[in-house]
Amino acid sequence: LEAQLFRAQRLESIGTLASGIAHDLNNILTPILAGAQLLPLKFPDADERTQHLLEILEINARRGADLVKQVLSFARGVEGKHITLQIRHLITEVAKILKETFPKSIEISIDVPQDLWLVSGDSTQLHQVLMNLCVNARDAMPNGGTLTISAENLFIDENYVRMNLEAKIGPYTVITVSDTGVGIPAEVLDRIFEPFFTTKDVGQGTGLGLSTVLGIMKSHGGFVNVYSEVGSGTYFKVYLPAVGGTETLSTETTKPLLGDEE
Ligand code: ADP
Repeated sequence: LEAQLFRAQRLESIGTLASGIAHDLNNILTPILAGAQLLPLKFPDADERTQHLLEILEINARRGADLVKQVLSFARGVEGKHITLQIRHLITEVAKILKETFPKSIEISIDVPQDLWLVSGDSTQLHQVLMNLCVNARDAMPNGGTLTISAENLFIDENYVRMNLEAKIGPYTVITVSDTGVGIPAEVLDRIFEPFFTTKDVGQGTGLGLSTVLGIMKSHGGFVNVYSEVGSGTYFKVYLPAVGGTETLSTETTKPLLGDEE
């Protein structure tokens, strides 16, 4: 338990540091980006080499601004607009995107019960949680494999709470994203939730995916568990406090989306 506390404090200070740097960097990048956008308009007759340099300047200033935006959104502790949600619909929506955009060598398998408990949450943020986990699963299976998203109801009792600081007694909706990929070695597993920790090549990963997942889950009163075996694959389980009931009354974000075959 002490180790968990220490880890949490360490992650928090990294978050504070990252958001401080991101704020400063944002102030630095804003005029650079503005200039990079304005200069080509001011000097339409510049020679080809200059135009090319200005283009590179703008692309990179924009890339920097995007990265800063990601850091800020993760470090801010994300507020979000919480409504009552049926996660089954969110999973259907994500599955549709995966089937359209992931390589055909990755089989997408979905396993969600009809009576899944409702949660209170921000659908955009929870969508992001699922997408981040699925993108990591994809990256872990360069030669193909199976990505499974499943969900279940779980009542957390005293025994569970004794073993997990973050859990509270009560009903949870649990989403599992699993892959049959490369797995995570122990020394990497220790660090995966750290902001900016990545084993991916430059430009492939920012190292913010899982720290964002953790931040969003915390702001929902939930938590994350991970199980991995090198060579066979990885499970990420996200636990969201459930609010009871299985069907939502509002129609806005909860009605089955196109392609939800049920
Ligand atoms: P990024 O994806 O940008 O590297 P993340 O925070 O999402 O950042 O992930 C951090 C690291 O955790 C990854 O670089 C990778 O080493 C490891 N990781 C995350 N998910 C998986 C997975 N499903 N299988 C194997 N390794 C993973």
